[in-house]
Amino acid sequence: MLDAAFFRHWLTSAAALVDREAERLTQLDSPIGDADHGSNLQRGFAAVATTLEKDAPATPGAVLTLAGRQLISTVGGASGPLYGTLLRRTGKALGDAAEVSEQQFADALRTGVDAVSALGGAAPGDKTMLDALVPAVDALGESFGAARDAANEGAVATTPLQARKGRASYLGERSIGHQDPGATSSALLFDALAQTAEA
Ligand code: ADP
Ligand code: MG
Ligand code: MG
Repeated sequence: MLDAAFFRHWLTSAAALVDREAERLTQLDSPIGDADHGSNLQRGFAAVATTLEKDAPATPGAVLTLAGRQLISTVGGASGPLYGTLLRRTGKALGDAAEVSEQQFADALRTGVDAVSALGGAAPGDKTMLDALVPAVDALGESFGAARDAANEGAVATTPLQARKGRASYLGERSIGHQDPGATSSALLFDALAQTAEA
């Protein structure tokens, strides 16, 4: 079973990974965006880590909804409301249980990913974070490691795609040949999740 401490640990690990990879995320956002994805998420996840340390919410649902709210209020770019919605809707779906099973978490995360798709109007193949999130949540029923691998493969597979949503879509065919920054940061979130499960 997964408790509030597991989810706090996940998001704190995600903040550390995003901080370490911020420069790379910003570099990916340079040819097909506005070169701010790393700094956007660095700021957002640092705020999440600080808030979780201060408040230490007692349930998985409360950890995720608080983190989601924090991302929405600290990240100005498209990724803030999208990742914020992912965490808030996942948290809401978990309700106020003190512990949740891996299957309950996988089901809740599916609700969160669906909400990201509804908010941004994107689907897999549009060269967005959904190209990592959807295969990862599909694999999560199997294991955390399988979800990490699926997210990584999904992120790499965005390179030959033409962007149909977000800033990169303004470039049309010139968006082809670059890995999507948001799909790359989504893979980091699943990397942090697998690390947390292995710890
Ligand atoms: P901005 O583009 O506003 O500067 P970021 O650079 O932080 O925001 O985030 C860009 C990432 O957000 C993209 O690489 C893409 O993965 C994701 N993204 C943008 N628009 C959408 C959308 N409509 N649906 C899903 N993901 C999106
Ligand atoms: Mg950007
Ligand atoms: Mg921006």
